[in-house]
Amino acid sequence: YSARELAEHFIKRIQSLDPELNSFISITAEQALAQADAADAARARGEAGPLTGLPIAHKDIFCTRGVRTSCGSRMLDNFNAPYDATVVEKLQAGGAVVLGKTNMDEFAMGSSNETSYYGPVKNPWDLTRVPGGSSGGSAAAVAARLVPAATGTDTGGSIRQPAALTGITGLKPTYGRVSRWGMIAFASSLDQAGPMATSAADCALLLSAMAGHDPRDSTCVDRPVDDYSADLDKPLTGLRIGLPKEFFPTTLDGRIADSTHAALRELEKQGATLVEISLPSVDLSVPAYYVIAPAEASSNLSRFDGVRYGYRCNDPQDLEDMFKRSRSEGFGAEVKRRILVGTYALSHGYYDAYYLKAQKVRRLISDDFARAFEQVDVIMGPTSPELAFGLGAKSDDPVTMYMADVFTIAVNLAGLPALSMPAGLIDGLPVGVQVIGNYFREGQILNVAHRFQ
Ligand code: GLN
Repeated sequence: YSARELAEHFIKRIQSLDPELNSFISITAEQALAQADAADAARARGEAGPLTGLPIAHKDIFCTRGVRTSCGSRMLDNFNAPYDATVVEKLQAGGAVVLGKTNMDEFAMGSSNETSYYGPVKNPWDLTRVPGGSSGGSAAAVAARLVPAATGTDTGGSIRQPAALTGITGLKPTYGRVSRWGMIAFASSLDQAGPMATSAADCALLLSAMAGHDPRDSTCVDRPVDDYSADLDKPLTGLRIGLPKEFFPTTLDGRIADSTHAALRELEKQGATLVEISLPSVDLSVPAYYVIAPAEASSNLSRFDGVRYGYRCNDPQDLEDMFKRSRSEGFGAEVKRRILVGTYALSHGYYDAYYLKAQKVRRLISDDFARAFEQVDVIMGPTSPELAFGLGAKSDDPVTMYMADVFTIAVNLAGLPALSMPAGLIDGLPVGVQVIGNYFREGQILNVAHRFQ
């Protein structure tokens, strides 16, 4: 197929199926067709790379020049970014064709895609259920084959959890592997962009294009990018898989435990050995995260003041009134909750008790993983404690919602790479298994996922 034919095919699917799913915030059909023609021309000149002509979608957290970049918020509903994020630039340089921007929880805060200003996304496997979040639009779009691959971001699980709930593969790279420049900041020490696709092989191709040093992000690591496709087929003989007992609590849904064990048996058959391990501090990861992430968010979101860009209230009485009403009207309830919690945790007199304490817990969690990786090559467990839940089932109960990331958050606190791979269906709903690697071992976890698939 030509790039144009591919783009036309997927645009048609988006136009006919997305009104029900709501996985896109913006569709950029015209630009996509122009990019597709450029890809076909490059191919004709013999200049095609592995991504040339591949249709993709970007989570609406990545700045895209001249196209609305809303971050799922009323605050940025009117915001057309004046530049492209590094991830957007790199994928475009690789020849990818961008079909649009996907729906997401507001400012990436959520696990169900229900905090979006543009309404919830529906899970293509069951339209009464959530696709997970916050990259739920990307996950649903890929799962429904509205696009072959998409970008996501993962601060506490937002690539892996929706990948699990929609039956696709999603990878969060090592912190610093992919540039955050032009990616709207939620919690800067945790945020990381990664690929979401139907297979580990596709994630490998995308990651190879997305990763790499960027002088515009000082936390982006200057280290050569691996060829993530090179080792996909490598046999798993001798691979040591660590199973932390904390990821298999007695309260875990028995069906999810069974699916995880079935996946592990398959890997054992291929020559891997299973090692029981313990990560004693990971039980503290959710509370530590919900101090650190809101603290960073409260600082990052202070830029949305109604002055420079984004939403501004009507008829402000004075400057104070403009700040107040622009922020009250522009932000949704969950975002306000995070700003309040974060501001409180950082305030004089509470800083040591909350923020500093959480940072100490974060170090203990990193140390747990470092010790574990002296014994094992990868660590596995379920991605999500639950299958896709009903729309509205948790929206009134933030703490229950926060527990959706109980198995994914520790990885962000430690800055490690991890992916979620599909491991079958339970009662017609997808289940995901998580594979965590040591720093910069994205190739190894992709190898495990590829051999499993
Ligand atoms: N669900 C978590 C939160 O609400 C993680 C979100 C994310 O990874 N962006 O903060």
